[in-house]
Amino acid sequence: MDFEDLKVHIPQSLSDEMIEYAENVALLHSRYLFVTRRGKRQHCYCTHCNGMFETQGLNVGKQAHCEKCNSLCYVKSAARGRNKMVDEVYFVYYAKSVIDPKAIVATGIYAVRDYRFSYRNVKTHFELVAMYLFIPREGSYMWRRIAYQSMAEGFVYVGEWTPCATTYSMGVLMKKAREFVSHESIKQAVQDTPFAWSGWDQYDYRRDSDMVAFFGLYARYPCVEYLVKLGFDNIVGGKLAGERNYKTINWQGKTLFDVLRITKKELNEIKRKNITLDFELLKILQMSLKDRSNFSLEEAMAFCKDFNYSIGTLEKLNKYAHLRRISNYLKNQKHKNHFVTVSGALTTWRDYLNDCEIMQMDLSDESVVFPRNLYQAHQNTIKQVKIKADEKLNQQIRDRLKSLNRYCFEFGGLMIRPVESTEELIAEGKTLHHCVGTYGNRYAEGKTDILVIRRIEEPDKPYFTVEITDGHVRQVHGAKNCNPTEDVQAFMAEFTKQKLKPKEREGKVA
Ligand SMILES: [Zn+2]
Repeated sequence: MDFEDLKVHIPQSLSDEMIEYAENVALLHSRYLFVTRRGKRQHCYCTHCNGMFETQGLNVGKQAHCEKCNSLCYVKSAARGRNKMVDEVYFVYYAKSVIDPKAIVATGIYAVRDYRFSYRNVKTHFELVAMYLFIPREGSYMWRRIAYQSMAEGFVYVGEWTPCATTYSMGVLMKKAREFVSHESIKQAVQDTPFAWSGWDQYDYRRDSDMVAFFGLYARYPCVEYLVKLGFDNIVGGKLAGERNYKTINWQGKTLFDVLRITKKELNEIKRKNITLDFELLKILQMSLKDRSNFSLEEAMAFCKDFNYSIGTLEKLNKYAHLRRISNYLKNQKHKNHFVTVSGALTTWRDYLNDCEIMQMDLSDESVVFPRNLYQAHQNTIKQVKIKADEKLNQQIRDRLKSLNRYCFEFGGLMIRPVESTEELIAEGKTLHHCVGTYGNRYAEGKTDILVIRRIEEPDKPYFTVEITDGHVRQVHGAKNCNPTEDVQAFMAEFTKQKLKPKEREGKVA
């Protein structure tokens, strides 16, 4: 919606009610008695009524009533520094649309009082910073701009109006300002509009203090009304808070059963027993209806608890078995085996089935999907998957050897050659107690070259390990990361001279 199209719906000037709301509600905390001591007397100035009176015994920092207007004010010393004394509030005020009798609007107002320069006759500065339009069965629109009191110069900086993709509360942007919303203005705005039936007055507005996200959702999805009225406002609140909802809610649904996709019996039971319906429980009820596990409400609740609300995993496993069978199988495995909890067994089963997929095992075979001993079966697949992964790495290494063999070289009783397999890499790391065993992937992928130096008469005994990248020698390490011995230093000097290209010789020998 264009800015001009939005603006025609919204009253552009502050009404008397809005100014009164700001004075008496939003800025109620911004009333002060500034006191100056004259001997034993205190000279007072009230910022609310501009009245002056003399008294004694007011405590600076406490609250006291103004003798002129009876306002409850904070007592401040006029002499003390006021260099941070700026009161900012942000409040949302609702109204009917100026042009559409079914629509409602809301305005977000930034109001500020700056007491830093003088405490007498401080004016309230108002700035319109958010405009909202809510059209039933169509949606909501929001434009906003920033405004803040410039701390250096004491004027209000105001930014450009920008459209917002979603409707949200400006509270998040108003860091220092206290937030308010006029509930009285909502009551008057919604009267004789569809929003009167939205359930706004039953909704727990602590979740969404200025209600703009709530009215935005209702404008788009009228089903919000039944959800709130039936006490499912935590579903609405969860949606507004962006909780994960597992596609449980059909927001376009025409009836409550369409929206929640559970049976009337379940719904009545939830209502009767006053159970808090959350997205997880709803999802389990929906899944059990779909796969014909037909859990009772108690069973579904126990299931959620047992499986620690791991909905994502259950959705994956649901393609192998219905929920009742998953539950029975894993409970049985817990009794028989190493599992402390059924949700632990669930994780193992998920990992086991992932392994089976990698190994291309036949998952249409019951005995593969439901091994008699899940723990043992998983230990086996772990080993096999690792072997398979190592085989892949070894093939990559074999493919690299052709070009790496150019480094093969003998000198002074020593020889050098590329590492031939992951097993050799691991053995090298184990024998020499350094970390080269972890280089498998990088070596196989050609990100680095790993070579071994051996004594010619002991060709199978690890001696020194060399890392070369981009034709530079990066590391030469022996047992426990020790530095090259004299014979190895001489060998590497000759190796570098003969085997590495002249411009690549500068590589450091570590
Ligand atoms: Zn007063």
